[in-house]
Amino acid sequence: MQPGLWCGSVEEIHLKTFYIETFGCQMNAHDSEKVVGTLLREGYSQVVDEADAGLILYNTCSIRDKAEQKVFHRLNEYKRMQGEGKKFAVLGCVAQQEGNKIFERAPYVSLVAGSASYRNLPEMLARLEAGETRITGLDDRQTDETFDTEFTSRTNPHRGYITIIEGCDKFCSYCVVPYTRGKERSRTSASVLAEAQRIAQMGFTEIQLLGQNVNSYLDPSGKRSFAELLAAVGEVNGIKRVRFTTSHPRDFTKDIVDAIDAVPTLCDHVHLPVQSGSTDVLRAMQRDYTRDWYLERIAWTKAARRDISLTSDIIVGFPGETDRDFEDTITLLETVGYDAIYGFKYSPRPNTPAIHMHDSIPEDVKVARLAILNARQREIQRENYGRHLDQTVEVMVEHGANSRGQITGRSTQNKTVNFMCDSTPPSGSYIDVRITQVFPSSLVGEAISVPTVPSPALAAQQALNARVPVVH
Ligand code: SF4
Repeated sequence: MQPGLWCGSVEEIHLKTFYIETFGCQMNAHDSEKVVGTLLREGYSQVVDEADAGLILYNTCSIRDKAEQKVFHRLNEYKRMQGEGKKFAVLGCVAQQEGNKIFERAPYVSLVAGSASYRNLPEMLARLEAGETRITGLDDRQTDETFDTEFTSRTNPHRGYITIIEGCDKFCSYCVVPYTRGKERSRTSASVLAEAQRIAQMGFTEIQLLGQNVNSYLDPSGKRSFAELLAAVGEVNGIKRVRFTTSHPRDFTKDIVDAIDAVPTLCDHVHLPVQSGSTDVLRAMQRDYTRDWYLERIAWTKAARRDISLTSDIIVGFPGETDRDFEDTITLLETVGYDAIYGFKYSPRPNTPAIHMHDSIPEDVKVARLAILNARQREIQRENYGRHLDQTVEVMVEHGANSRGQITGRSTQNKTVNFMCDSTPPSGSYIDVRITQVFPSSLVGEAISVPTVPSPALAAQQALNARVPVVH
């Protein structure tokens, strides 16, 4: 057999090429960046068309309603390609949730692995190349290890992501993550800082720290708290912006706000999902905090010297949610004055405690509550965004001119800013923009400074990314 050919493969297009499709949250997208880095390191090449790939990987997400049905539907579409000698791997939360059932329903799949097993990918790939057809990485959810790799294929040209904590120990009653991603385990602060320095040397100026509950971070070396790590990343030479997501209210401590106040590179934005404004619903959700506890954390954030933007996730129609409970959510929205929310209708997920609760809220009531929530939030945003009129905000450029000739970027508060500029500033550069028009979800303005040019290293990285699009 020629080197690089699949064992038992029939055509040369099956040289070690792969295609990856990714669904879900930012954690999943970044997992794919690390999986891609690992595959490249193992001698594979990435292709952008599944027809050209010897190995097709599907990184799944179980957050969406009926996620497993959608995965099996997609796998069915792969079936027609099995005669071409391709191999198939299913990764992510649905892989962990469905496990060996995937082999039964899609026998042409050869590898099924949850995220807690990704550090074993090189070994699993070797078995795949040797011709094994039932390889699993499903038994690692109690591991203390994290998936640390120097070989990350960074696909966002502006922002370098760093996972600092994996898994979740919170067991909210509606959520599958603790069952699919395993227990909470953090990387050492030294390894996070080393990665931050590598990213800065590549020319990235923005870093986003990731974790299902990023602020539950517990340094295994005992050296730094989450707030101290945040501050240390913000002080890495060359870094201009640091973001973090997602924070859990239970572990949101005041020193996080103090760090934002003290370190200019930490962005003016906190995403703090509340899920419901009713303490009774929060108890049923097993969120382990009350409305008042949450609002105390909001009060700390609002008392900061910096103008910190607040955003949240909210579920409506959780089992037992009364009109009064829903009203509590609306009043909480008004009290906090979020700059954005991600509102969802509750739907039961397999293997979660809430699936045993009676899904008591009719679908039409859920739909109506979500519409009320979004309409009220839009009014709040109209007022919030209105305050930016005539302000000057620093924008990091993300996209070149749209059809109206506007350049798009983001403010430190993570708000979208569309602006006119005499020249086209390069992607990744920073520019001051005076706001001349406001909308409920975006700002419009005019450039009033010369852009700072991104480093040649970042430009090289961007050119590479443009050739190899990865995440859908
Ligand atoms: S904190 Fe709750 S909602 Fe978030 S990942 Fe953990 S169990 Fe899921």
